[in-house]
Amino acid sequence: MIDLYNLTLEQLADLLASWGEARFRAKQIWTWLYDKRVASLDAMSNLPKSLRERLHAETTLGTLTLAAEQESADGTLKRLYQLADGQLIESVLMEYDDDRRTACISTQAGCAMGCVFCATGQMGFSRHLTGSEIFEQALYFARDLEARGERLSNIVLMGMGEPFHNYEASLEAVRRLMSDLGIGARHITVSTVGLVPMIKRFADEGLQVKLAVSLHAATDDERSALLPVNRRYPLSELIQACREYVEKSGRRMTFEWTLIQGENDTPEQAHTLGQLLRGLKCHVNVIPLNPTGGYHGGPSAGGRIEAFIAILSEYGVPATMRIRRGIDIAAGCGQLKSEVVKRQRVKSVTVVEDAQDAEQ
Ligand code: SAH
Ligand code: SF4
Repeated sequence: MIDLYNLTLEQLADLLASWGEARFRAKQIWTWLYDKRVASLDAMSNLPKSLRERLHAETTLGTLTLAAEQESADGTLKRLYQLADGQLIESVLMEYDDDRRTACISTQAGCAMGCVFCATGQMGFSRHLTGSEIFEQALYFARDLEARGERLSNIVLMGMGEPFHNYEASLEAVRRLMSDLGIGARHITVSTVGLVPMIKRFADEGLQVKLAVSLHAATDDERSALLPVNRRYPLSELIQACREYVEKSGRRMTFEWTLIQGENDTPEQAHTLGQLLRGLKCHVNVIPLNPTGGYHGGPSAGGRIEAFIAILSEYGVPATMRIRRGIDIAAGCGQLKSEVVKRQRVKSVTVVEDAQDAEQ
């Protein structure tokens, strides 16, 4: 089966030509796919029935199969998709009062970076996603929104996986989000754990796409304990690459700081961070930890967060606390997959116990 979402307009026209169809049909189909964003071939009402039948027989609209879905009290929608080879990945849709509709999408099944507090890091690396698999996660949300008269407006590459460990496919998806889904570069954010060579490469792309770097600690010892990748790319190199990025792009960048009570939320850490980032055109997003089964830490309590932000402001470093969306549905990176896999394991254990019971 040919995935229609995996074809360029040119390739689609070639395919149709090889079927003896007029090339203008490609543009018609393209409009259904990406402007009208329909979810089925049957909705493509200006195509002859024979063409629709052939499309049904030989093509698919995407390769992701919905395996689980949860909606949070705050409207956050979390999905678990099964890929063609059985791998599981997550995507999240966040709705804001100001009409923003933000999709958080995955770039890998699992992740090789091993950050200790991250559910995805705890499950290890399975494989890279293709550009199409990354792009389709956003497209599926765009389709559903379109059906109720809304538009997908923002994308963050902050789901499972490290986008810069899968650089080409992630950039291919980003380019298609811009060209095919019409999402402005400034409404797309790529988040990286800090792969220095790729930050340099990204700076040279000359895109207006936003960059976020997950920092989480301001000394090498503390950062290496949380993010093993820091041993390969220490803070001095990372911050230097960030300075170069800001200079080249002229853009303000973001640092992510997951606040873990008693670990990286102390006044001392805040002062060290302030010194590290002073003078850099940036913004710090502080996010209380989303607790995961494989890590002992907990989220910082109220007062400590405000104190942390206040110290940063002494250094002229702007910081905002981000609300944890979908906390009641485990919408943190990798958490739904962990839950579903755990449930499946529990289920199979129960089945075995039942079988033993029956034998006794
Ligand atoms: N690999 C990329 C993007 C995916 S992770 C990166 O690390 O930047 C997206 C963000 O979620 C990162 O800032 C990551 O540190 C953060 N994160 C991971 N696990 C978390 C948790 N349990 N609670 C809060 N934030 C978490
Ligand atoms: Fe990978 Fe990002 Fe999780 Fe670290 S925080 S393990 S880089 S997904």
